[in-house]
Amino acid sequence: MLAALASAGLNSASLWANEVNIYSARQEELIKPLLDKFSADTGIKVNLITGNADELITRISSEGRNSPADLLLSTDVGRLARAKEQGILQQVSSNILDSQIPAALRDPAGLWFGLTVRARPILYVPTKVDPSELSTLADLTSAKWRGRICVRSSNNIYNQSMVAALIAHDGVAVSEQWVEGLVRNLARPPRGGDRDQIKAAAAGVCDIALANTYYLAGMLADARDKADAEKVAVFWPDQAGRGTHINISGAGVAAHAPNQANAIRLLEYMVQPAAQQWYAEANHEYPVLADVAISELLKSFGDFKADSLELSKVAELNAEAIRIMDRARWR
Ligand code: FE
Repeated sequence: MLAALASAGLNSASLWANEVNIYSARQEELIKPLLDKFSADTGIKVNLITGNADELITRISSEGRNSPADLLLSTDVGRLARAKEQGILQQVSSNILDSQIPAALRDPAGLWFGLTVRARPILYVPTKVDPSELSTLADLTSAKWRGRICVRSSNNIYNQSMVAALIAHDGVAVSEQWVEGLVRNLARPPRGGDRDQIKAAAAGVCDIALANTYYLAGMLADARDKADAEKVAVFWPDQAGRGTHINISGAGVAAHAPNQANAIRLLEYMVQPAAQQWYAEANHEYPVLADVAISELLKSFGDFKADSLELSKVAELNAEAIRIMDRARWR
């Protein structure tokens, strides 16, 4: 009897160890202060492993049932969907998560949840382009933009998700024509990251760049890049129609999470208004929660209508998007 109790006690001690293990593709400085606050508020110790998203997914997968991972954090829906496909996430049902996060920004089965919104508008050089010339993403294939657009490589998941959203709306044939048209209008073969496209526009290489807004905001907030960033302005495409393409950073609970309850508790913590405001602002992103204040810097980019497409559809179409981009030789 005593032995049974002692062993039950031991089991529950290891089952309910007050910690949570995060595998994060998000830079440590963009999440650590929030995790410290979570630990201070709840007494739950957070162990953070930071790395490349694909490597973390492979690691959880190869660790299998013995994986210590409780939560996988990623900065694009495409990666979360890959994790789901590989069976390394588990279904979570939480009234808090379901009521706070718009349905389009979470997996319908509860395998991943959006925690911040990232927008990918058109950035233009006001001395070269009048905003009245801009309208939709579709219009970027027009002959007037020949040799005037900068965008990074098709290897990049942000572009893959953008094309996947296009496929979800317009189908494969129309999307393929769009990708061909975009490639035709590029000012140079794709190279560098989103920030490099903004710098190229500032340097006169192109008149339009496609980039996520947090890169522009980050440059505006950095004395070294401010002058370049100030040479471009934000145009929100598709405002009369479907809205501007958005993506998420988000997380899912690992399939074999040893601290499942703590992982869910952390997710729920991250969608509280104060956490949302901090977490979104740390990387100049938008909260997933309506009615949470955004920074003055983001306000300066103006309000916009976001595409309400379910991001799970974007994730499902990732492979199709890559095929189209390859065929059109978007390098
Ligand atoms: Fe990024």
